[in-house]
Order: sequence, then C-alpha cells, then structure tokens
Amino acid sequence: MRYQRSSALFQDAQKYLPGGVNSPVRAFKGVGGTPIFIERAKGAYMYDADGHSYIDYINSWGPMIVGHAHPKVTEAIISQVEKGTSYGTPTELESEIAKLVVESVPGIDMVRFVNSGTEACMSAIRLARGFTKRDKIIKFAGCYHGHSDSFLIQAGSGAATFGEPNSPGVTQGTAKDTLLANFNDLENVKSLFENNPGEIAALILEPVAGNMGCIPPQEGFLEGLRELCTAHGALLIFDEVMTGFRLSMGGAQELFEITADIVTFGKVIGGGLPVGAFAGRREIMEYLAPIGPVYQAGTLSGNPLAMRAGLTTLQLLKQNPNCFEEVENTTLEIAEGVHNIFTKNSIEHSINVIGSMFSVFFTDVEVTDFETAKTANNPTFNRFYHHMLENGIYLPPSSFETWFISLAIQSEEIDKTLSAIDSFKG
Ligand code: PMP
Repeated sequence: MRYQRSSALFQDAQKYLPGGVNSPVRAFKGVGGTPIFIERAKGAYMYDADGHSYIDYINSWGPMIVGHAHPKVTEAIISQVEKGTSYGTPTELESEIAKLVVESVPGIDMVRFVNSGTEACMSAIRLARGFTKRDKIIKFAGCYHGHSDSFLIQAGSGAATFGEPNSPGVTQGTAKDTLLANFNDLENVKSLFENNPGEIAALILEPVAGNMGCIPPQEGFLEGLRELCTAHGALLIFDEVMTGFRLSMGGAQELFEITADIVTFGKVIGGGLPVGAFAGRREIMEYLAPIGPVYQAGTLSGNPLAMRAGLTTLQLLKQNPNCFEEVENTTLEIAEGVHNIFTKNSIEHSINVIGSMFSVFFTDVEVTDFETAKTANNPTFNRFYHHMLENGIYLPPSSFETWFISLAIQSEEIDKTLSAIDSFKG
C-alpha cells in the first residue's frame, strides 16, 4: 500500500489527538483518504514517511516563500538556539524586525508581535473597538481571520471545507456584533454602514481572499471600502496574513495603493516559526498596553527564535527585489499551463491568480465571492487531488484553499507539475 506508514501513523495519532491532527484541514476530511505524514522538507520538496517526495504547493500554508530549510534561515535559527530560545524580556532583535516591517509596509508606524495570525486579527479587532469605542465589525462571507469567536461566522478555510462556517461555542452575544457582507459587493457594505450608523468599529477583510480559494478584489472594491470606512469613522483592517510579504514587500496595500488603518500579518513574517503581528499608525497603536488602555500580551510574543527566523526571511526578500516578480512569473506559467491543458482535455475550470497565489476551481462560473466559489465541483477536485498526490505533487487538500508558490519552484518542477496535470482526465 502506497501510504502504509502514513496510515499507521494516522491510526495512532487519532488515539491521542482529536481527529489525529492539530489543525482540521490536515486531516483530509474534505478530500478523503489518509493524510500524508511528512518527515522532512528541503527547497521545493517535502518527503513523506513512506519515502515519497512531493513538489510542495502548500508551503506550510504560505510561510515558506523562500523554500523549505533555506540555508540562511536554518543557520540563523541554529545560531539563535545556542543562545537560548526565549527570555521573556525585550531583545534588540524585536526592534530590528519591527523597523524592517515599518520601512517595508505603507502607512504603519508601529508593530506588535504575537504568535499566530489568529492572535493578530483578534487583537486588531479589540484595538479597533477600544480606539473607536464601538462594538460592531463587518467581515466578509468566506474570509477567514483565524479561529477567534467573532470571526467564526461564515468563515472560510477549514470551516468552509467541513461545511461548518458557523461554529458551535460562539455565543449569540458575540455573533450579533459581527455583520456579514459579500466579497466584491460594495453596495452590500454600504447598506450595512447605513443601517448601523455610528456603531461599526471596523471592517476586516483579506484584500485578496485566500480562504475560499484565491479571489482577487474587483476594480474599485478596495477603494470603495476605504471611502466607506473613512466616511463612517470605522477602521479599515487589512488581514495580510497571507498577502503580507508575499504579493510584494509592502503586501496588498502597496500593490493596490490603498492604505488601511490596521494591518495584520502571519505566515511569511515568521519564516516558518510561529509569528503573527499587527501594525498601524502611532495614534492607534499607542492605544495598546502598557501605554494605552487596550490590553494585549503574550509569554512567547517576540521570542528571539521566531524573530530570528522571521527577520532572516524578510531580509532575504528585501535583498532580492526581483523575487516577487520571479515568483509571480512562475505562478503565471503554472496557471497558464493548467488552463491550456484543461481546455485541451475538456475539463471545466475557472482559474484565479495573483502574485504567487493561485486557485483552480472546477466550475465554469467566474469565481468572485463565497457563493460562486461554492459552485466548484468537489468530487472532481477530490479526484484531481489524489491524482496529483500519486504523481508527487502536494496541493492544499481543499478547493477552498490557495496554492502558494515558492521561489524554490523552478522550471523542472513546473514541467513535472504540468505533466501530472495533463494525465488527469477529469
Ligand atoms: N488570516 C488569514 C487571512 C489566514 O489565512 C489565516 C490562516 N490561514 C489566519 C488569519 C489565521 O492564522 P493562524 O492560522 O496563524 O492563526
């Protein structure tokens, strides 16, 4: 059996871990079959417990933009380990990475580091509520901002994959303060603002949605949101956990030339170690404890090991200004290849691509929001998924997830990927 050892490891894991995993989509519940247990990764490749290799298109769900176990990042981590991994005190490293983030990202003066994207978004909302002295927030159906209570309402990602976008355990009291809008629907947002005058603290969105598959904003959408937030005194929060340091050094803000009031980060900023961050203008950020009234804290926040991995990754990107164009070109080559092959093989599909983010939906509808994303044919995706896996290509195990391309993927990997795609017959 191809996945014999993975299968045995999964059996064992289920005895001690709910569902055998520590994050739901890893369990392959959507695509079926045995989750693949990975033993090591290097560059563009991951290697499983049964000795198979895979070209990796998850890249740890985004962080590994420079490829796995990059020698510079590995060396930096090892040298930090020898000096200790966490002190619970300030370190010079924290200011060094904060300075790099502030210099790279438009419109921000200060950063607070946390340990995950969830924490970053949860804290950003608390800060926005404290700053505006209002309670309600607007989020978009199919966007995912981590698993904190106010976001698990029509959430994307794993929640959407399992058909449970609203989680039990979120109280009605919390849910009533989260207003829902449709992605790319400015009129919808406008009416929410009009129907809740003076009550909306913030609007949070992924400027490029990546948790209902990849869905870029339509022309004028982000501009319109910026105008509505300013007109109604609400803060605009860009969740750049996926897009930060991936679409460009300054993220989606730089790409679309829109300045948000608070920006959240995760994934690339930690270089594969647990790091999140939220950032904004000084007047907003100084609302945080210890100088302001909004409380937020963390034992391991800004720990030197994670900071070192993040800083080294961001420096690698900064030193190579063409890297975003390079990884975008790789992505476009793959996207065009997939489109041409599926057209030739008469496989219905819709492709969304931006920067190094990319999704294939098995539908003939243009995918612009959660409703259209849900038209994708999941049985086809599941067959496609297992076909690719057997051919040594590791994709995110759900059509509601985005493929992340790394700089380690080169022409050899592109050729292998396209040839695996060509042998899929629907
Ligand atoms: N926001 C976005 C846009 C995300 O994609 C994710 C994770 N996929 C999160 C927030 C939550 O980040 P984490 O899993 O690190 O808590």
